[in-house]
Amino acid sequence: MRDSMEWGKNRTIKVCTFYEPGISSEEIQELFVHWNDELKLYSLAVVAINQQEIERPGLTGASILEFLYTLPMSENCDRYLYLKGRNWKDIVFEITSLGVFALAGIKLEIQGAVEAKTNTRGYIKAKYISLLQLIFTSPKSTLVHEGYHLLGCGHQLFLDPCYKQIQDTKKLASERESEIFNQGSKELSVAEHSELDSNSLNEELIHPSIDSIFFPSITASGRRFITRDQVDRSILKD
Ligand SMILES: [Zn+2]
Repeated sequence: MRDSMEWGKNRTIKVCTFYEPGISSEEIQELFVHWNDELKLYSLAVVAINQQEIERPGLTGASILEFLYTLPMSENCDRYLYLKGRNWKDIVFEITSLGVFALAGIKLEIQGAVEAKTNTRGYIKAKYISLLQLIFTSPKSTLVHEGYHLLGCGHQLFLDPCYKQIQDTKKLASERESEIFNQGSKELSVAEHSELDSNSLNEELIHPSIDSIFFPSITASGRRFITRDQVDRSILKD
């Protein structure tokens, strides 16, 4: 189904990226190259912007999500990503859980997560030791997996609803883009007719840069976020 679908124009999603000390810019680049390999199937691309090193906000995945919940959708961000590193406590945990996994035969989703309120922010574990990669997945496939959640997909990966979700989000992006441009040209013609001082015009409105337009989000439950303000209102309200 994916191959026969129309994906429209190429779009870039700007991912404001935080990373734990110990993760190099080469590693970040490698992860994004791999993610982009996947996304080109949908005429999409991701770029890691505003890269910022910060200490892990807490021990658990929940505390990382809590931190991400405090961030307003500032400037050019479309999505937030935290790349979690690896310290000695993680190593102890991994070795302990190795035993648990062997006993219980279950695999927990502890490699990463994306919040379900707006599907705009999440984290992945960006470092593993090689032995554990056999049991967990690699950081690259974790990023691709969580990346689908950032595009509004649930756990029906590689099934039609996910493709449809991505297609709908891209359509929403195109609609938003033409809406902004039409609004801009309307403002311009009004201004011309009333001979307003050009300084009083909102430059943003007349010449919106494509780069500044938010790449929308549709959640798995169908909520639509078309502007950064809408995301903020949902994220920051409690
Ligand atoms: Zn998942």
